[in-house]
Amino acid sequence: SSTPLKVAVTGAAGQIGYSLLFRLASGALLGADRPIELRLLEITPALKALEGVVMELDDCAFPTLAGVEIGDDANTVFDGVNLALLVGARPRTKGMERGELLSANGAIFTAQGKALNEVAADDVRIGVTGNPANTNALIAMTNAPDIPRERFSALTRLDHNRAISQLAARTGAPVTDIRRMTIWGNHSATQYPDLFHAEVGGRNAAEVVGDQSWIENDFIPTVAKRGAAIIEARGSSSAASAASATIDAAHDWLLGSADDDWVSMAVASDGSYGVPEGLISSFPVTTKDGSWEIVQGLDIDEFSRGRINASVAELEEERAAVTELGLI
Ligand code: NDP
Repeated sequence: SSTPLKVAVTGAAGQIGYSLLFRLASGALLGADRPIELRLLEITPALKALEGVVMELDDCAFPTLAGVEIGDDANTVFDGVNLALLVGARPRTKGMERGELLSANGAIFTAQGKALNEVAADDVRIGVTGNPANTNALIAMTNAPDIPRERFSALTRLDHNRAISQLAARTGAPVTDIRRMTIWGNHSATQYPDLFHAEVGGRNAAEVVGDQSWIENDFIPTVAKRGAAIIEARGSSSAASAASATIDAAHDWLLGSADDDWVSMAVASDGSYGVPEGLISSFPVTTKDGSWEIVQGLDIDEFSRGRINASVAELEEERAAVTELGLI
């Protein structure tokens, strides 16, 4: 169809936004044949910087960019959007308590959930990148009662991509030979990147690696702490790869995951794999035409069970904290 897809991005003047917008506008999401209209939300003090970003978008003369609107009012910016990428979030600053972080973000995602509920298109899909992403998605979802729950997800695709890259480096296989990677749980240090169901060239990845100590002491912590390693090396956060993963996740959600493969997405649990119903937790999912299904029937051994439970316990704590704050 040549009707533009209306895509909202929040925190659009931020670091991730600076990578994300140009790729969205150049056709990375849906290809060169489908125009995109961007709806960019920022807090009032960041609107001037956002105007500068829009000047650069204009200067690219992207054929697929059908229009750009900016603003600081969610009800205006989200009007009629088909896809909302919620990137803007209150960063944790030095000395900030976890409760303060949750309430600052709670205010943002409560308001944005309500606005989406009011004004988004009937087919809207909402991807949350801003941290704590899983719990922010839970807050938005709970505050948007008229939007089906399966339209909300939080980003674990960057963790998924990092895990593929680490496995490729270890085995010497190209990334295209790696399938069925899974990130379970929370997008945080407790996440569990699972090699026991992944495949390298059709063979079980854990068997190809053949080194449990590498999996436990190298692979899992490297994936989980990659963000910190990039800040240490680059002096600022992993914004370009976060933007790239945000696009990968939305692309596959709208257009479908590859045959014989799956992707990782944090979605509202239906109780699969013992994850409490309603928690936004990462699972292996297949996607098709804008919907997703959790891959069923995977055997979870004791090691994996322990890792999944630990991450899910953290998600339950976050849910209890935002419930106590009255945000959901
Ligand atoms: P970034 O664009 O770098 O990051 C935005 C969010 O994405 C943060 O919550 C960050 O979490 C998260 N994130 C998720 N994955 C990654 C990753 N791999 N690497 C880095 N970040 C990741 O932040 P900026 O501060 O540059 O920009 C945020 C913008 O959002 C600002 O312009 C601010 O004005 C805006 N904002 C807008 C709001 C709105 O539209 N209503 C509300 C609040 C903020 P983490 O903090 O853990 O790194």
